[in-house]
Amino acid sequence: MLSLIKLPRVFNVHQVPKAFQEDSIISGYRHPRSSAIDCVLSLFQLTNETLNVWTHFLPTWYFLWNLMTVVCMQDVWNDAYTWPLLVFLLSCCVYPLASSCAHTFSTMSTRARHICFFFDYGALSFYSLGSAITYSAYVMPDAWVNSMFHTYYVSIAVFNTVICTAMACYSRLGLPFLHYNHDITERFPESQKPKLGKVLRISAFTYPYLFDNIPLFYRIFLCVGEGCTVNEANSLHIYHTLLAFLTAFLFATHLPERLAPGRFDYIGHSHQLFHVCGIIGTHFQLKAIEMDMALRRPWLQAHAPAVTFSSTLGAAMLCFVLSLGIIYHFSCPLLRSPAPSKASSCRH
Ligand SMILES: [Zn+2]
Repeated sequence: MLSLIKLPRVFNVHQVPKAFQEDSIISGYRHPRSSAIDCVLSLFQLTNETLNVWTHFLPTWYFLWNLMTVVCMQDVWNDAYTWPLLVFLLSCCVYPLASSCAHTFSTMSTRARHICFFFDYGALSFYSLGSAITYSAYVMPDAWVNSMFHTYYVSIAVFNTVICTAMACYSRLGLPFLHYNHDITERFPESQKPKLGKVLRISAFTYPYLFDNIPLFYRIFLCVGEGCTVNEANSLHIYHTLLAFLTAFLFATHLPERLAPGRFDYIGHSHQLFHVCGIIGTHFQLKAIEMDMALRRPWLQAHAPAVTFSSTLGAAMLCFVLSLGIIYHFSCPLLRSPAPSKASSCRH
């Protein structure tokens, strides 16, 4: 029966275009013009992308289950205190789902690859905003509640989302129409200055992460005396922070495959480890947030500003719309290809 299904063949690094080549990964590449069905079938054979997809697709269901539990067990319609958690859990579902879709369909064409990863970057920015919204509501140390920083924290996080989605998209090809168009899909900075592209992309994700974590870092590493909010959640916050740094380290260094190119093509390369560490980190982040949310509820409801629609679900919707706008803007030149007729609807 299995022999009736013909799995797509895989290629080595010299057989695929430059845009598809990964640092120190020698084999296991899928065809650079795979059909959507071949992309889906490839999830059931071992290629260098298979575990990249599964390490984010399965956790999507874990976070979705957490989201459904909150929706079913808590009074989310009337209790505004739960809204930040809802936004966070939604962002925890969106980012691994977008990533697994991007990894699945990124080998349909060079253009599809770029557009897939634009969505991946937008989803990561959305997750960053989800973190900021929950930190504002549950994690901010007592001493900083109602401070000027607290007042503008979520607004700045929304602004960061826009800047960082745009910066991450820019890191692949440069500015739409100015640096690339439908038939030139490998322009500045990724091909001409690959290091600059990578630095820009790492900055686009580390900067909002560091900004979002200012209240947490102050609380667990710097604060002394009263108002520091020392509770059982602190150790979970520390686990999450350590995993976040390990995640960034793996993404930046391409270890272990850089030490032995070809040895980790299918199992154990840095991108898979980056996914796994990121997800475990998000799990600890969720547990820490839930613990702060439960332990601090009486104090926060008496002293902190009331949770509003605009600072939670409203901010998330704004971020969602703005990110889609940015992705559309960067994708437009790629969708304008004269060859496939379905691409003609994109106007600039
Ligand atoms: Zn990935």
